[in-house]
Amino acid sequence: MNINVLTKSESFYNVYERKPGADKHVTHYCPGCGHGIIHKIIAEALDDLGVRDKTIFISPVGCSVFAYYYFHTGNIQVAHGRAPAVATGIKRALPDSVVISYQGDGDLAAIGGLEILHAANRGEGFTVIFINNAIYGMTGGQMAPTTLIGQTTATTPRGRDPQNDGYPIRMSEIIATLEAPVYVERVMLSDSKNIMRARNAIRKALKIQVEKNGFSFIEVLSPCPSGWKMSPLQAKKWVGEVLSSYFPVGVMKDISSEFKGRNKVKKELSRDEILDVLGVNVTEKIRPEIKEYSKREVSKEIKIAGFGGQGVLSLGIVLAYMGVKHGYKVSWLPSYGPEMRGGTANCHVKISNKKIGSPVVSYPTVLIAMNRPSLDKFENDVISGGVIFYDSSLIDSAPSREDVTIIPIPATRIADEIGSTKMANMVMIGAFVKYFDLMDIDYIVISLDEVMKSKKLVDMNKLAIRKGVEYLFDNILKS
Ligand code: SF4
Repeated sequence: MNINVLTKSESFYNVYERKPGADKHVTHYCPGCGHGIIHKIIAEALDDLGVRDKTIFISPVGCSVFAYYYFHTGNIQVAHGRAPAVATGIKRALPDSVVISYQGDGDLAAIGGLEILHAANRGEGFTVIFINNAIYGMTGGQMAPTTLIGQTTATTPRGRDPQNDGYPIRMSEIIATLEAPVYVERVMLSDSKNIMRARNAIRKALKIQVEKNGFSFIEVLSPCPSGWKMSPLQAKKWVGEVLSSYFPVGVMKDISSEFKGRNKVKKELSRDEILDVLGVNVTEKIRPEIKEYSKREVSKEIKIAGFGGQGVLSLGIVLAYMGVKHGYKVSWLPSYGPEMRGGTANCHVKISNKKIGSPVVSYPTVLIAMNRPSLDKFENDVISGGVIFYDSSLIDSAPSREDVTIIPIPATRIADEIGSTKMANMVMIGAFVKYFDLMDIDYIVISLDEVMKSKKLVDMNKLAIRKGVEYLFDNILKS
Protein backbone atom coordinates (compact mmCIF):
# COMPACT_ATOMS: atom_id res chain seq x y z
CA MET A 1 0.00 0.00 0.00
CA ASN A 2 1.36 3.44 -0.95
CA ILE A 3 1.26 5.96 1.83
CA ASN A 4 1.57 9.63 0.93
CA VAL A 5 2.87 11.74 3.76
CA LEU A 6 2.08 15.41 3.42
CA THR A 7 5.10 17.47 4.39
CA LYS A 8 6.07 21.09 4.16
CA SER A 9 6.88 22.23 0.66
CA GLU A 10 10.55 22.01 -0.30
CA SER A 11 10.31 25.55 -1.56
CA PHE A 12 9.96 26.66 2.07
CA TYR A 13 12.74 26.50 4.59
CA ASN A 14 12.01 23.85 7.13
CA VAL A 15 13.10 26.16 9.94
CA TYR A 16 13.01 29.93 9.41
CA GLU A 17 16.56 30.61 10.57
CA ARG A 18 16.62 34.09 9.05
CA LYS A 19 13.69 35.18 11.18
CA PRO A 20 14.76 36.97 14.35
CA GLY A 21 13.41 35.85 17.71
CA ALA A 22 13.00 32.51 19.35
CA ASP A 23 10.17 31.03 17.32
CA LYS A 24 11.63 29.89 14.03
CA HIS A 25 8.67 27.74 13.01
CA VAL A 26 5.88 30.25 12.46
CA THR A 27 5.67 33.21 10.09
CA HIS A 28 5.46 36.83 11.22
CA TYR A 29 2.02 37.31 9.61
CA CYS A 30 -1.07 38.11 11.69
CA PRO A 31 -3.60 35.32 12.33
CA GLY A 32 -6.01 35.12 9.39
CA CYS A 33 -3.71 37.02 7.01
CA GLY A 34 -3.83 35.91 3.37
CA HIS A 35 -0.06 36.05 2.80
CA GLY A 36 0.55 32.67 4.41
CA ILE A 37 -2.00 30.97 2.13
CA ILE A 38 -0.57 32.56 -0.99
CA HIS A 39 2.99 31.71 0.02
CA LYS A 40 1.92 28.09 0.44
CA ILE A 41 0.24 28.02 -2.97
CA ILE A 42 3.33 29.48 -4.65
CA ALA A 43 5.73 27.14 -2.85
CA GLU A 44 3.72 24.05 -3.79
CA ALA A 45 3.51 25.16 -7.40
CA LEU A 46 7.28 25.66 -7.55
CA ASP A 47 7.78 22.17 -6.12
CA ASP A 48 5.41 20.61 -8.61
CA LEU A 49 6.91 22.47 -11.56
CA GLY A 50 10.38 21.43 -10.36
CA VAL A 51 11.75 24.96 -10.60
CA ARG A 52 12.68 25.82 -7.01
CA ASP A 53 16.40 25.94 -7.82
CA LYS A 54 15.97 28.51 -10.54
CA THR A 55 13.32 30.66 -8.88
CA ILE A 56 14.04 34.18 -7.71
CA PHE A 57 11.43 35.59 -5.40
CA ILE A 58 11.26 39.36 -5.15
CA SER A 59 9.96 40.66 -1.85
CA PRO A 60 8.43 44.12 -1.86
CA VAL A 61 8.13 46.76 0.79
CA GLY A 62 5.01 45.78 2.71
CA CYS A 63 3.99 43.06 5.13
CA SER A 64 5.67 40.46 2.91
CA VAL A 65 8.99 42.31 3.04
CA PHE A 66 10.35 39.33 4.97
CA ALA A 67 9.26 36.67 2.49
CA TYR A 68 12.93 35.74 2.21
CA TYR A 69 12.67 34.27 5.72
CA TYR A 70 10.46 31.55 4.27
CA PHE A 71 11.13 30.84 0.59
CA HIS A 72 13.93 28.40 -0.05
CA THR A 73 14.60 30.01 -3.43
CA GLY A 74 16.72 32.88 -4.63
CA ASN A 75 15.49 35.99 -2.84
CA ILE A 76 15.87 39.70 -3.37
CA GLN A 77 14.34 42.47 -1.30
CA VAL A 78 13.89 45.60 -3.37
CA ALA A 79 13.03 49.27 -2.97
CA HIS A 80 9.39 50.29 -2.69
CA GLY A 81 7.52 49.74 -5.96
CA ARG A 82 10.61 48.77 -7.91
CA ALA A 83 10.08 45.01 -8.08
CA PRO A 84 9.04 45.04 -11.79
CA ALA A 85 12.24 46.88 -12.75
CA VAL A 86 14.42 44.45 -10.81
CA ALA A 87 12.44 41.51 -12.17
CA THR A 88 12.98 42.82 -15.69
CA GLY A 89 16.72 42.95 -15.18
CA ILE A 90 16.92 39.47 -13.71
CA LYS A 91 14.66 37.90 -16.29
CA ARG A 92 16.51 39.43 -19.20
CA ALA A 93 19.89 38.46 -17.80
CA LEU A 94 18.73 34.96 -16.82
CA PRO A 95 15.90 34.06 -19.20
CA ASP A 96 15.69 30.50 -17.87
CA SER A 97 15.06 31.64 -14.31
CA VAL A 98 11.59 31.84 -12.79
CA VAL A 99 11.04 35.33 -11.43
CA ILE A 100 8.17 36.22 -9.13
CA SER A 101 7.40 39.85 -8.44
CA TYR A 102 5.29 39.67 -5.27
CA GLN A 103 3.72 43.02 -4.49
CA GLY A 104 1.08 44.58 -2.28
CA ASP A 105 -1.41 47.26 -3.28
CA GLY A 106 0.57 50.21 -1.92
CA ASP A 107 3.73 48.92 -3.54
CA LEU A 108 2.26 48.02 -6.93
CA ALA A 109 -0.60 50.44 -7.43
CA ALA A 110 0.79 53.57 -5.71
CA ILE A 111 4.54 54.17 -5.65
CA GLY A 112 5.22 51.49 -8.25
CA GLY A 113 2.22 52.25 -10.48
CA LEU A 114 4.23 53.17 -13.54
CA GLU A 115 6.82 50.47 -12.99
CA ILE A 116 4.21 47.74 -13.29
CA LEU A 117 2.45 49.35 -16.25
CA HIS A 118 5.59 49.56 -18.31
CA ALA A 119 6.83 46.10 -17.38
CA ALA A 120 3.43 44.69 -18.36
CA ASN A 121 3.37 46.76 -21.52
CA ARG A 122 6.77 45.43 -22.53
CA GLY A 123 5.52 41.90 -21.93
CA GLU A 124 8.40 40.95 -19.68
CA GLY A 125 8.46 37.22 -19.09
CA PHE A 126 7.96 37.13 -15.32
CA THR A 127 4.98 36.54 -13.05
CA VAL A 128 3.40 39.17 -10.83
CA ILE A 129 1.45 38.16 -7.75
CA PHE A 130 -0.45 41.24 -6.65
CA ILE A 131 -1.86 41.11 -3.13
CA ASN A 132 -4.82 43.44 -2.86
CA ASN A 133 -6.08 43.89 0.68
CA ALA A 134 -7.27 47.44 0.14
CA ILE A 135 -5.03 48.94 2.81
CA TYR A 136 -1.44 49.64 3.78
CA GLY A 137 -1.06 46.83 6.32
CA MET A 138 2.57 47.11 7.40
CA THR A 139 2.55 50.80 8.19
CA GLY A 140 -0.61 50.80 10.27
CA GLY A 141 -3.65 50.75 8.01
CA GLN A 142 -3.53 53.85 5.83
CA MET A 143 -5.61 54.30 2.66
CA ALA A 144 -4.22 52.43 -0.34
CA PRO A 145 -5.05 53.03 -4.03
CA THR A 146 -7.44 50.08 -3.76
CA THR A 147 -9.22 51.15 -0.56
CA LEU A 148 -12.96 50.98 -1.17
CA ILE A 149 -15.23 54.02 -1.25
CA GLY A 150 -16.45 54.62 2.29
CA GLN A 151 -13.83 52.30 3.81
CA THR A 152 -12.34 53.72 6.99
CA THR A 153 -8.59 53.65 7.37
CA ALA A 154 -6.08 55.52 9.49
CA THR A 155 -5.96 58.28 6.87
CA THR A 156 -9.66 58.20 5.90
CA PRO A 157 -11.31 58.11 9.35
CA ARG A 158 -14.66 59.18 7.84
CA GLY A 159 -14.35 56.70 5.01
CA ARG A 160 -12.79 57.09 1.58
CA ASP A 161 -14.45 59.97 -0.20
CA PRO A 162 -13.94 59.93 -3.97
CA GLN A 163 -14.30 63.72 -4.11
CA ASN A 164 -11.25 64.03 -1.95
CA ASP A 165 -9.42 60.72 -2.30
CA GLY A 166 -10.24 59.50 -5.80
CA TYR A 167 -11.59 56.08 -6.67
CA PRO A 168 -10.22 52.60 -6.00
CA ILE A 169 -7.99 51.52 -8.89
CA ARG A 170 -8.77 48.25 -10.64
CA MET A 171 -5.26 47.19 -11.61
CA SER A 172 -6.16 43.90 -13.28
CA GLU A 173 -8.58 45.63 -15.63
CA ILE A 174 -5.94 48.22 -16.53
CA ILE A 175 -3.24 45.60 -17.12
CA ALA A 176 -5.66 43.54 -19.22
CA THR A 177 -6.19 46.43 -21.65
CA LEU A 178 -2.52 46.33 -22.63
CA GLU A 179 -1.45 44.34 -25.67
CA ALA A 180 1.47 42.42 -24.24
CA PRO A 181 0.22 40.65 -21.09
CA VAL A 182 -0.72 37.05 -21.77
CA TYR A 183 -2.70 36.09 -18.72
CA VAL A 184 -4.45 38.31 -16.18
CA GLU A 185 -6.78 36.94 -13.52
CA ARG A 186 -8.23 38.16 -10.23
CA VAL A 187 -8.90 35.60 -7.51
CA MET A 188 -9.87 35.80 -3.85
CA LEU A 189 -9.19 34.03 -0.58
CA SER A 190 -12.74 34.09 0.73
CA ASP A 191 -13.45 30.35 1.06
CA SER A 192 -12.02 26.95 0.11
CA LYS A 193 -13.51 26.98 -3.38
CA ASN A 194 -11.99 30.33 -4.22
CA ILE A 195 -8.68 29.40 -2.63
CA MET A 196 -8.56 26.44 -5.03
CA ARG A 197 -9.26 28.85 -7.90
CA ALA A 198 -6.40 31.03 -6.66
CA ARG A 199 -4.19 27.94 -6.55
CA ASN A 200 -5.02 27.07 -10.15
CA ALA A 201 -4.47 30.62 -11.36
CA ILE A 202 -1.07 30.96 -9.70
CA ARG A 203 0.01 27.58 -11.06
CA LYS A 204 -1.09 28.55 -14.53
CA ALA A 205 0.75 31.85 -14.35
CA LEU A 206 3.97 30.16 -13.24
CA LYS A 207 3.61 27.51 -15.93
CA ILE A 208 3.28 30.24 -18.55
CA GLN A 209 6.55 31.64 -17.32
CA VAL A 210 8.28 28.26 -17.24
CA GLU A 211 7.18 27.68 -20.83
CA LYS A 212 8.49 31.16 -21.73
CA ASN A 213 5.17 32.42 -22.93
CA GLY A 214 5.19 35.93 -21.55
CA PHE A 215 3.87 38.20 -18.83
CA SER A 216 1.27 36.99 -16.37
CA PHE A 217 -0.46 38.88 -13.58
CA ILE A 218 -2.53 37.42 -10.76
CA GLU A 219 -4.37 39.73 -8.40
CA VAL A 220 -5.37 38.12 -5.11
CA LEU A 221 -8.07 39.70 -2.93
CA SER A 222 -6.60 38.86 0.43
CA PRO A 223 -7.84 39.32 4.01
CA CYS A 224 -6.05 41.73 6.32
CA PRO A 225 -7.84 41.22 9.68
CA SER A 226 -5.48 43.57 11.53
CA GLY A 227 -5.73 46.44 9.07
CA TRP A 228 -9.49 46.07 8.77
CA LYS A 229 -9.94 45.59 12.52
CA MET A 230 -11.92 42.39 12.00
CA SER A 231 -11.67 38.82 13.21
CA PRO A 232 -10.13 36.38 10.69
CA LEU A 233 -13.60 34.98 9.93
CA GLN A 234 -15.13 38.43 9.42
CA ALA A 235 -12.23 39.36 7.17
CA LYS A 236 -12.71 36.31 4.92
CA LYS A 237 -16.40 37.08 4.67
CA TRP A 238 -15.68 40.71 3.83
CA VAL A 239 -13.41 39.62 0.98
CA GLY A 240 -16.17 37.51 -0.54
CA GLU A 241 -19.08 39.85 0.04
CA VAL A 242 -17.68 43.39 -0.09
CA LEU A 243 -14.20 43.57 -1.61
CA SER A 244 -15.09 41.36 -4.54
CA SER A 245 -18.19 43.43 -5.31
CA TYR A 246 -15.92 46.28 -6.44
CA PHE A 247 -13.13 44.01 -7.67
CA PRO A 248 -14.89 41.17 -9.50
CA VAL A 249 -12.95 37.94 -9.66
CA GLY A 250 -12.34 36.12 -12.92
CA VAL A 251 -10.07 35.93 -15.93
CA MET A 252 -9.54 39.38 -17.40
CA LYS A 253 -7.37 38.21 -20.26
CA ASP A 254 -5.99 34.88 -21.42
CA ILE A 255 -4.18 34.60 -24.72
CA SER A 256 -1.67 32.09 -23.41
CA SER A 257 -2.72 29.41 -25.88
CA GLU A 258 -2.34 31.76 -28.84
CA PHE A 259 1.01 33.24 -28.05
CA LYS A 260 4.06 31.14 -27.57
CA GLY A 261 7.62 32.25 -27.07
CA ARG A 262 6.77 35.84 -26.13
CA ASN A 263 9.66 36.12 -23.72
CA LYS A 264 12.20 38.76 -24.43
CA VAL A 265 15.11 36.73 -25.71
CA LYS A 266 17.88 39.16 -26.33
CA LYS A 267 20.47 38.24 -28.86
CA GLU A 268 23.87 38.81 -27.30
CA LEU A 269 25.79 41.34 -29.34
CA SER A 270 29.32 40.48 -30.33
CA ARG A 271 32.08 42.74 -29.12
CA ASP A 272 32.49 44.22 -32.58
CA GLU A 273 28.77 44.93 -32.78
CA ILE A 274 28.90 46.75 -29.43
CA LEU A 275 31.83 48.84 -30.57
CA ASP A 276 29.98 49.55 -33.80
CA VAL A 277 26.91 50.75 -31.88
CA LEU A 278 29.19 53.01 -29.87
CA GLY A 279 30.55 54.44 -33.10
CA VAL A 280 34.02 53.09 -32.52
CA ASN A 281 36.30 52.09 -35.36
CA VAL A 282 36.27 48.33 -35.50
CA THR A 283 38.28 47.85 -38.63
CA GLU A 284 41.25 46.75 -36.59
CA LYS A 285 40.69 43.18 -35.47
CA ILE A 286 41.34 42.38 -31.87
CA ARG A 287 44.67 40.66 -31.72
CA PRO A 288 44.38 37.02 -30.63
CA GLU A 289 47.04 37.40 -27.94
CA ILE A 290 45.02 40.24 -26.40
CA LYS A 291 42.02 37.98 -25.98
CA GLU A 292 44.19 35.51 -24.05
CA TYR A 293 44.20 37.96 -21.12
CA SER A 294 40.55 37.29 -20.36
CA LYS A 295 41.28 33.61 -19.75
CA ARG A 296 42.98 34.59 -16.51
CA GLU A 297 41.12 34.53 -13.21
CA VAL A 298 40.45 38.22 -12.75
CA SER A 299 37.98 39.93 -10.46
CA LYS A 300 38.77 43.57 -9.86
CA GLU A 301 36.21 45.80 -8.19
CA ILE A 302 37.58 49.29 -8.50
CA LYS A 303 36.44 52.58 -6.99
CA ILE A 304 37.98 55.65 -8.62
CA ALA A 305 37.42 58.95 -6.85
CA GLY A 306 38.55 62.55 -6.98
CA PHE A 307 37.48 66.11 -7.70
CA GLY A 308 35.28 66.87 -10.68
CA GLY A 309 37.68 67.86 -13.47
CA GLN A 310 40.41 65.36 -12.55
CA GLY A 311 39.23 62.96 -15.21
CA VAL A 312 37.98 60.39 -12.73
CA LEU A 313 35.12 59.22 -14.91
CA SER A 314 37.35 59.09 -18.01
CA LEU A 315 39.86 57.03 -16.10
CA GLY A 316 37.12 54.51 -15.45
CA ILE A 317 35.86 54.62 -19.03
CA VAL A 318 39.31 53.95 -20.47
CA LEU A 319 39.85 51.02 -18.10
CA ALA A 320 36.42 49.58 -18.89
CA TYR A 321 36.81 50.09 -22.63
CA MET A 322 40.24 48.53 -22.71
CA GLY A 323 38.89 45.70 -20.57
CA VAL A 324 36.29 44.99 -23.27
CA LYS A 325 38.99 45.00 -25.92
CA HIS A 326 40.92 42.42 -23.90
CA GLY A 327 37.88 40.16 -23.74
CA TYR A 328 36.93 40.80 -20.12
CA LYS A 329 33.44 41.36 -18.78
CA VAL A 330 33.31 44.92 -17.52
CA SER A 331 30.97 47.46 -16.00
CA TRP A 332 31.31 51.19 -15.40
CA LEU A 333 28.99 53.15 -13.17
CA PRO A 334 29.45 56.89 -12.62
CA SER A 335 28.44 58.66 -9.43
CA TYR A 336 28.30 62.42 -9.07
CA GLY A 337 28.33 64.62 -6.02
CA PRO A 338 25.50 67.14 -5.65
CA GLU A 339 27.75 70.06 -6.58
CA MET A 340 27.55 71.23 -10.18
CA ARG A 341 31.20 72.26 -10.40
CA GLY A 342 34.30 71.46 -8.43
CA GLY A 343 32.52 68.75 -6.46
CA THR A 344 33.55 65.19 -5.94
CA ALA A 345 33.05 62.46 -8.49
CA ASN A 346 33.60 58.78 -8.39
CA CYS A 347 32.96 55.79 -10.54
CA HIS A 348 32.69 52.08 -10.03
CA VAL A 349 34.48 49.78 -12.46
CA LYS A 350 34.43 46.03 -12.51
CA ILE A 351 36.77 43.96 -14.65
CA SER A 352 36.33 40.23 -14.54
CA ASN A 353 36.61 37.06 -16.56
CA LYS A 354 33.18 36.09 -15.24
CA LYS A 355 29.73 37.59 -15.74
CA ILE A 356 29.08 40.66 -13.63
CA GLY A 357 25.85 40.67 -11.63
CA SER A 358 25.79 44.26 -10.41
CA PRO A 359 27.88 47.25 -11.41
CA VAL A 360 27.91 48.65 -7.88
CA VAL A 361 31.23 48.54 -6.04
CA SER A 362 30.56 48.89 -2.31
CA TYR A 363 33.72 47.25 -1.02
CA PRO A 364 36.45 47.79 -3.60
CA THR A 365 39.39 45.47 -4.08
CA VAL A 366 41.18 48.51 -5.52
CA LEU A 367 40.75 52.18 -4.65
CA ILE A 368 42.25 54.89 -6.85
CA ALA A 369 42.09 58.09 -4.81
CA MET A 370 42.96 61.26 -6.67
CA ASN A 371 42.52 63.63 -3.72
CA ARG A 372 42.42 63.71 0.06
CA PRO A 373 38.61 63.81 0.57
CA SER A 374 38.23 60.74 -1.65
CA LEU A 375 40.85 58.84 0.27
CA ASP A 376 39.25 59.79 3.58
CA LYS A 377 35.84 58.81 2.31
CA PHE A 378 36.63 55.43 0.77
CA GLU A 379 39.80 54.16 2.47
CA ASN A 380 37.92 52.10 5.03
CA ASP A 381 35.68 50.52 2.38
CA VAL A 382 38.59 48.73 0.71
CA ILE A 383 38.60 45.04 1.52
CA SER A 384 41.37 43.64 3.64
CA GLY A 385 44.14 42.55 1.27
CA GLY A 386 43.07 45.16 -1.28
CA VAL A 387 45.17 47.85 -2.94
CA ILE A 388 45.02 51.64 -2.63
CA PHE A 389 46.60 53.82 -5.31
CA TYR A 390 46.70 57.47 -4.32
CA ASP A 391 47.99 60.64 -5.90
CA SER A 392 50.90 61.36 -3.60
CA SER A 393 51.48 64.78 -5.10
CA LEU A 394 48.11 65.99 -3.80
CA ILE A 395 47.73 63.78 -0.72
CA ASP A 396 50.52 64.49 1.71
CA SER A 397 49.96 61.70 4.21
CA ALA A 398 49.74 58.05 3.26
CA PRO A 399 46.65 55.96 4.05
CA SER A 400 46.79 54.51 7.53
CA ARG A 401 45.50 51.01 6.74
CA GLU A 402 47.97 48.23 7.44
CA ASP A 403 45.99 45.39 5.93
CA VAL A 404 46.07 46.72 2.36
CA THR A 405 48.85 47.45 -0.14
CA ILE A 406 49.51 51.15 -0.54
CA ILE A 407 50.81 52.44 -3.89
CA PRO A 408 51.72 56.16 -3.91
CA ILE A 409 51.87 57.60 -7.42
CA PRO A 410 52.70 61.32 -7.82
CA ALA A 411 50.34 61.45 -10.75
CA THR A 412 49.72 65.19 -10.78
CA ARG A 413 53.42 66.02 -10.56
CA ILE A 414 54.25 63.65 -13.42
CA ALA A 415 51.37 65.09 -15.45
CA ASP A 416 52.64 68.62 -14.84
CA GLU A 417 56.10 67.60 -16.00
CA ILE A 418 54.80 66.42 -19.33
CA GLY A 419 52.79 69.56 -19.84
CA SER A 420 49.24 69.18 -18.47
CA THR A 421 47.83 68.52 -15.01
CA LYS A 422 44.87 66.94 -16.75
CA MET A 423 47.01 63.92 -17.65
CA ALA A 424 47.16 62.72 -14.02
CA ASN A 425 44.37 60.24 -14.64
CA MET A 426 46.33 58.65 -17.51
CA VAL A 427 49.42 58.35 -15.34
CA MET A 428 47.26 56.40 -12.90
CA ILE A 429 46.03 54.12 -15.67
CA GLY A 430 49.59 53.27 -16.61
CA ALA A 431 50.50 52.47 -13.01
CA PHE A 432 47.33 50.50 -12.36
CA VAL A 433 47.55 48.34 -15.49
CA LYS A 434 51.25 47.68 -15.02
CA TYR A 435 50.81 46.76 -11.36
CA PHE A 436 48.18 44.12 -12.02
CA ASP A 437 49.40 43.14 -15.49
CA LEU A 438 45.74 43.09 -16.47
CA MET A 439 46.16 44.27 -20.03
CA ASP A 440 48.76 44.91 -22.72
CA ILE A 441 50.12 48.41 -22.24
CA ASP A 442 51.32 48.72 -25.84
CA TYR A 443 47.89 47.77 -27.05
CA ILE A 444 46.23 50.35 -24.78
CA VAL A 445 48.53 53.06 -26.06
CA ILE A 446 47.92 52.10 -29.69
CA SER A 447 44.14 51.95 -29.25
CA LEU A 448 43.70 55.04 -27.08
CA ASP A 449 42.50 57.14 -30.03
CA GLU A 450 39.35 55.03 -30.20
CA VAL A 451 38.17 56.04 -26.76
CA MET A 452 39.34 59.66 -26.56
CA LYS A 453 36.71 62.18 -27.60
CA SER A 454 39.23 64.94 -28.18
CA LYS A 455 41.96 63.86 -30.54
CA LYS A 456 44.11 66.93 -29.77
CA LEU A 457 45.69 65.55 -26.64
CA VAL A 458 45.90 61.88 -27.55
CA ASP A 459 49.68 61.88 -27.86
CA MET A 460 50.07 63.52 -24.47
CA ASN A 461 47.68 60.98 -22.96
CA LYS A 462 49.73 58.16 -24.42
CA LEU A 463 52.89 59.65 -22.99
CA ALA A 464 51.21 59.98 -19.58
CA ILE A 465 50.29 56.30 -19.59
CA ARG A 466 53.88 55.35 -20.39
CA LYS A 467 55.13 57.65 -17.62
CA GLY A 468 52.81 55.96 -15.14
CA VAL A 469 54.18 52.57 -16.16
CA GLU A 470 57.75 53.82 -15.84
CA TYR A 471 57.17 55.34 -12.44
CA LEU A 472 55.58 52.20 -11.08
CA PHE A 473 58.35 50.04 -12.46
CA ASP A 474 61.24 52.23 -11.23
CA ASN A 475 59.86 53.19 -7.83
CA ILE A 476 57.45 50.47 -6.71
CA LEU A 477 58.15 47.20 -8.47
CA LYS A 478 61.95 47.50 -8.40
CA SER A 479 62.11 48.50 -4.76
S1 SF4 B 1 -1.28 43.75 8.70
FE1 SF4 B 1 -2.70 42.69 7.35
S2 SF4 B 1 -1.48 42.11 5.55
FE2 SF4 B 1 -0.08 42.63 7.19
S3 SF4 B 1 0.44 40.71 8.16
FE3 SF4 B 1 -1.25 41.61 9.32
S4 SF4 B 1 -3.10 40.79 8.37
FE4 SF4 B 1 -1.42 40.40 6.97
